[in-house]
Amino acid sequence: MVTKGDMFYTWAADADVLKKGECGGAITALQQYALKSGMVDAVLAVKKGADLYDAVPTVITDPAEIAETAGSLHCGTLLLSKLVKDYLDNNKTAKLGVTVKGCDTMGLIELAKRNAVDMDRLLLLGVNCGGSVSPVLARKMIADKFEVDPDLVHKEEIDKGQFIIEYEGGHKGIKIDDLEDEGYGRRSNCRRCLYKVPRQADLACGNWGVIGDKAGNATFVEVCSDKGANLLDAAAKAGAVATEAANPKGIEIRGKVEGAMLNLGNKWRRKDFEALASDLWGTIARETGRCIKCYSCIENCPVCFPVADELKGNSRMVTSGEVPPNPMFHLRRFAHISDSCINCGQCEELCPMDIPLALFSHAVRTEGDTTFEPKLGKAPYTN
Ligand code: FAD
Repeated sequence: MVTKGDMFYTWAADADVLKKGECGGAITALQQYALKSGMVDAVLAVKKGADLYDAVPTVITDPAEIAETAGSLHCGTLLLSKLVKDYLDNNKTAKLGVTVKGCDTMGLIELAKRNAVDMDRLLLLGVNCGGSVSPVLARKMIADKFEVDPDLVHKEEIDKGQFIIEYEGGHKGIKIDDLEDEGYGRRSNCRRCLYKVPRQADLACGNWGVIGDKAGNATFVEVCSDKGANLLDAAAKAGAVATEAANPKGIEIRGKVEGAMLNLGNKWRRKDFEALASDLWGTIARETGRCIKCYSCIENCPVCFPVADELKGNSRMVTSGEVPPNPMFHLRRFAHISDSCINCGQCEELCPMDIPLALFSHAVRTEGDTTFEPKLGKAPYTN
């Protein structure tokens, strides 16, 4: 019997899924089982599009298609919470299984706090996430630092502190710290993230802590809810996945890696926020002065997007048609999201003028988060 808090090494029973999966295909096999058994009506997962810089979210209702989503894509621009809300709104009673990173989970929880999504209709298979890389920067980094044509790369991974590529003719790895010192590497919001193991999902899955002969061939699964326990229990009993208790040494190593990643996140927070501190308002005013008012920050924010259309019209504070807009345009947005900005980075990533909006919002909100409850992206209820 599986219960909340248990930790397992898990892998797919099916040989094809085991091979296609990033670390033994446990997630793919669990999604397949959840769909086949009727626990969910559809699965939202991510598959490779035109190339490995193109991560395409896909809703699947045929279990045979789920294997196409196996594998981890670290270079896609993704936040799935918006797509989840759209799916639930358009399929009124359906249940959805979703593979989520920490930021996806936080986005969903913030929407749930606003009664905009019903968490009971979701089965969340969380992946640990040390951070992702923007597709544009990934291509540039591979060309400049690895001196490889990005179109020749057929596999990328982040392992033991290195960004590693496999390409026609070889493979190369460079330490992420070295890449980041030179302005490459993970998105800046990911560097500051302190939510590496998504324990608010139903299962938290990753490669940290998988040691011995299972390393690379199994996923470390932490059971975070009764829903997650039921899924893993039923899938194992049905023969869809195999499990064994996680190695105690592996559990210890996983804890240490998580701790080191949190320290690194705090280091980036200090560095980024201290650089802003001397002239926060001046920097915000200067940077937002380049705004072309395309509304991308509003449309892609997991908090603002449900009301994006209302925010586009005239208001007492902002007159439409002004470019750059009156500073109140951005101040009003910061105020709206101040108790919900989860530092997902979508506003910044998708800003055509490269305004560091997530940094401003995160710097201000982090101060508040030391005091306010519930913490950002954390549910006031238990999963
Ligand atoms: P698979 O069966 O291969 O399934 C992988 C699932 O991930 C699929 O459902 C797929 O659709 C989904 N997916 C792929 N890319 C994305 C994406 N960009 N966003 C959302 N879903 C996606 N584990 C760690 O322990 N430490 C880490 O630092 C770490 N960083 C990660 C960063 C990213 C961006 C991702 C996607 C995963 C990361 N993982 C990390 C998790 C690890 O890579 C494996 O996904 C996990 O061990 C499950 O392996 P599996 O073989 O069971 O998954």
